[in-house]
Amino acid sequence: MVAPTRARRPGAPLPGAVGERDDPAGCPFCEGRESSTPPETFALGPPGRPPDTPGWRVRVVPNKFPAFGPWPRDGDRPESLFAHRAAVGRQEVVVHSPRHLRTIADLGSRELELVAEVWQARAAAAREAGFPYVHALVNEGAGAGASLAHSHSQLVWLEEEPPFVAQEREAQGAAGGCLLCRVLAEEREQRIRVVEERDGMLLLCPFAGRQPYELLAAPLDCEADPFTSTRLGEALLLAADGVRRLRIAEGPVPLNLWLHAGGHWHLEVLPRLGILAGIELGAGYFINTMAPESAAGVLRES
Ligand SMILES: [Zn+2]
Ligand SMILES: [Zn+2]
Ligand SMILES: [Zn+2]
Repeated sequence: MVAPTRARRPGAPLPGAVGERDDPAGCPFCEGRESSTPPETFALGPPGRPPDTPGWRVRVVPNKFPAFGPWPRDGDRPESLFAHRAAVGRQEVVVHSPRHLRTIADLGSRELELVAEVWQARAAAAREAGFPYVHALVNEGAGAGASLAHSHSQLVWLEEEPPFVAQEREAQGAAGGCLLCRVLAEEREQRIRVVEERDGMLLLCPFAGRQPYELLAAPLDCEADPFTSTRLGEALLLAADGVRRLRIAEGPVPLNLWLHAGGHWHLEVLPRLGILAGIELGAGYFINTMAPESAAGVLRES
């Protein structure tokens, strides 16, 4: 539901959100503080660099506070509480840069390409370890759940695709042929909600956007697996471009970004300019205070 008359709260911090720490002097993700994190599981850096020492470009460490298992002891796992058995996996943190940058919008294109490379390398490791689905996500800002400001992403290793991805894949298939392919072709022709097109990729404000400036980045070609695609880096670049435009238009905005790998893969960016309340969470109706057409217009100009 588009309700532009409702007050929008650009950049307003959400009340009650977990406080984000932004203390560059004590940041555990900055180069030189490798001992403040659990031992790294992977890193891109010069050959021969010893683990957990400076010199890396992108660094992967286990999440210190994982929401997903493994549980410390077998007996600790309350089976009956899990409606979804995929809730057992691993959670890794990908530190995007040795520099203390606060948003993917500040990463250079080479840095974003390296992040994509690391997502792919870790997804391959996850598959080898028996976790076929990897949920990749970025939280930016305390209002979007980030507890550290230094730009990073998370990789959640899962035994099966999560419920939203399964729903999307089924909906795409039910339309007879790929629904996203059709949507992208129409959007590309109409050019109302498109923000940018580059190298066979589209960045747009989707028709049924839930929040102001919601973004979707996808390859025009129907590709199923982002982790073997040569275009994942390009998609991240495009999404980062969208975030950069958003910052120009509205200032720093808390946001969530995630990758959906079921069916036609894509990135979704959900800026958190509104509060999800009883209508959104209870009924599943999203009240968007800004029409996607207007949002795309603002972002194109930014
Ligand atoms: Zn830092
Ligand atoms: Zn498709
Ligand atoms: Zn999706």
